[in-house]
Amino acid sequence: MNVDLHSHSTASDGTLSPTALVEHAHACGVDVLALTDHDSTDGFAEASLAAGPLDLTLLCGVEISVTWARTTVHIVGLNVDPTHPELVAGLASIRRERERRAEKMGLGLEKQGVVDARQRAAAMATGGLVARTHYARLLIEDGLARDIGDAIKKYLSRGKPAFVAGQWASLEDAVGWIVAAGGVAVIAHPARYNYTATKLRELIKAFKAAGGQGMEVLSGSHSVQDARNMQRHALWAGLSASRGSDYHGPENTWVELGRLPQLAEDLTPVWSHFASALPNAS
Ligand code: AMP
Ligand code: MN
Ligand code: MN
Ligand code: MN
Repeated sequence: MNVDLHSHSTASDGTLSPTALVEHAHACGVDVLALTDHDSTDGFAEASLAAGPLDLTLLCGVEISVTWARTTVHIVGLNVDPTHPELVAGLASIRRERERRAEKMGLGLEKQGVVDARQRAAAMATGGLVARTHYARLLIEDGLARDIGDAIKKYLSRGKPAFVAGQWASLEDAVGWIVAAGGVAVIAHPARYNYTATKLRELIKAFKAAGGQGMEVLSGSHSVQDARNMQRHALWAGLSASRGSDYHGPENTWVELGRLPQLAEDLTPVWSHFASALPNAS
């Protein structure tokens, strides 16, 4: 079974519509896809319609922005009920914070000479949610950065001219909303935070205490070595393991849907927690 449990559409900072994303996943041989937009489940209804006639199981997911120990951590919720009031209200509160931050980032970039940054980012973000990715794309358009990583590094990361810290959800709240909505909480791309092993164990401990059950071992943003390290952490911590590309669209040529290796045999796949939502699991 080809399972990809981390992907983005135009409902957040992906470049494919929910329909195009689902069709592309199907063409890539994905059997189970989770749509996990940042702080939003708004793409799920359209994605479901697209998945209907296809031999592909679509799960409703979300990637929640969290502030933990003064750093930003992403928590993926899998197989959530997008209508659950606690989740709906929690995500709405983060999106309000995103709007405040987007205003300030826009002003910061305008001071750096990016004309109409706020308004152009809003126009680009057709799903109504602005991420740093949108501003990064503007910087590339204006010839001020080579790629998204370069734009974020030069302008939009801590200490840089247009950086604005987001005040995101607490770890406890984010995991709580996911669990309340019937989902499974997963630490996204744990190797991306550049934590020491001690710090990562602290995060895992707080995450488990809040009701979290999984972590991404295989991620589009993990190296082979990262995956090996995260596999050890998952086994040590008794967390289930997830596999997700973190696909944002065809422009990122180095990430494709459904192309990661399979999880090692000794890991517990996170999808064992929602086996009844899957096609005859094998
Ligand atoms: P935000 O949630 O608004 O802070 O935006 C974060 C998003 O920026 C991530 O979800 C990625 O899509 C993108 N991003 C951050 N760092 C990088 C990077 N080094 N290379 C490519 N994309 C990045
Ligand atoms: Mn993103
Ligand atoms: Mn992320
Ligand atoms: Mn993501």
